[in-house]
Amino acid sequence: MLKGRTYLLVIIGLTLVLFIALTCFFNAGSLKQKNQTPVADTLKSWTILTIPDGGSLYSVLGKTSLPMQEIAVFAIQFGEQIDVTTIQPGDTLKIKLTPDNQKIERLIYVPEIDEQHHFYLQGDSLVYRRANLPIQKIIRLLNGTLDNTLDKSLLAMGLNPTEKQQINNGLESEINFQRDAKNGDTFQVLLEERYLGKIRLPKSKIIYASYNGKKTGLHELFRYTDTDEQSTLNGLYTKDGKSNNVSGVGYPLNRIHTVSSFGRRIDPIYGSWRMHQGIDYRAGYGTPVFAVANGTVTMASWYGGYGKTVIVRHPSGYSTQYSHMSSIGVNKGQKVKRGQIVGRVGSTGKSTGAHLHFGLKSGKSYINPTNLRMVGAEKLNSSQMVRFKEQQAQIRQLLLQRNIS
Ligand SMILES: [Zn+2]
Repeated sequence: MLKGRTYLLVIIGLTLVLFIALTCFFNAGSLKQKNQTPVADTLKSWTILTIPDGGSLYSVLGKTSLPMQEIAVFAIQFGEQIDVTTIQPGDTLKIKLTPDNQKIERLIYVPEIDEQHHFYLQGDSLVYRRANLPIQKIIRLLNGTLDNTLDKSLLAMGLNPTEKQQINNGLESEINFQRDAKNGDTFQVLLEERYLGKIRLPKSKIIYASYNGKKTGLHELFRYTDTDEQSTLNGLYTKDGKSNNVSGVGYPLNRIHTVSSFGRRIDPIYGSWRMHQGIDYRAGYGTPVFAVANGTVTMASWYGGYGKTVIVRHPSGYSTQYSHMSSIGVNKGQKVKRGQIVGRVGSTGKSTGAHLHFGLKSGKSYINPTNLRMVGAEKLNSSQMVRFKEQQAQIRQLLLQRNIS
């Protein structure tokens, strides 16, 4: 009797299990079908790719299903249209692939609000178009009176820190502010502001800046605009063509800890006195190393005892050297901008531990890199000087109009 009941329970149990299993199977089947529509939808819609720290256009596109060949071809086309050195970690690419995932159908890259690059598939190839935004340029003259510091006074006028810094750097090497600036001194700034609708775009051009004080006398800076829009020569100069483009120079590392300075020292490898042709900065393995100024890479390879080395030649005629790196991030012949990563700190070559050897060369001789300010200085040649004189006259004309109105 007991046995019969057990059988019955087992049979009911099994039936239940079978029923549940079948229900699940069919439900799963229908769920699968339901899911197929959204999957197809996402294939058609946009994907946003963000350039990671240390990443590149290649690496980020490599995360899509695009074939390598397609990525390589696109990277070349991209490089022809857009200055790739401006790609920063955090930048995004909006991308839409063809339904078979084999080609880019649309791609949008917007590094700045006023700089929108579009690629779209037409027939078999991608067509490039830069969005023409209705940007309005407004020239504005700011008149100021010194109130304690020039920094404070310029910011109070509504300039942003980058704009302020350009003027500051330019005037600083002309005027001893600590000694000669007095409250009540006057200054003028002629700005070309750009607006997209009502939005003031962050990069205003400073066309002219002047400072006039009892003790300082009058000092003026004029903008030189080269025929090449991308030229590193573009910037502020004194009227005789002297650039004080200190803002064009940065540091090779985020944090500077000097462990060995320029000059005679006991060689850490050989133990004898040797001339140290640079400065050693202590930094952790893998720390990014930055180009200190705009320039062209003349070496990106192993360099004897210096190990993995990058040398950048700057328009000022100086070269900077970055050595003992663990990896090199640029190629010979490549143009680099100030602050661009050229490699990572390491201990390659004759080195006793992770550090950056930073050297500065003028022609063929090494000089003390603490004179770094000179690296960013630009010089105008005689034909550029002719152009600059014409531009100065135009700027004076603009000033005259603004001062009257
Ligand atoms: Zn060294």
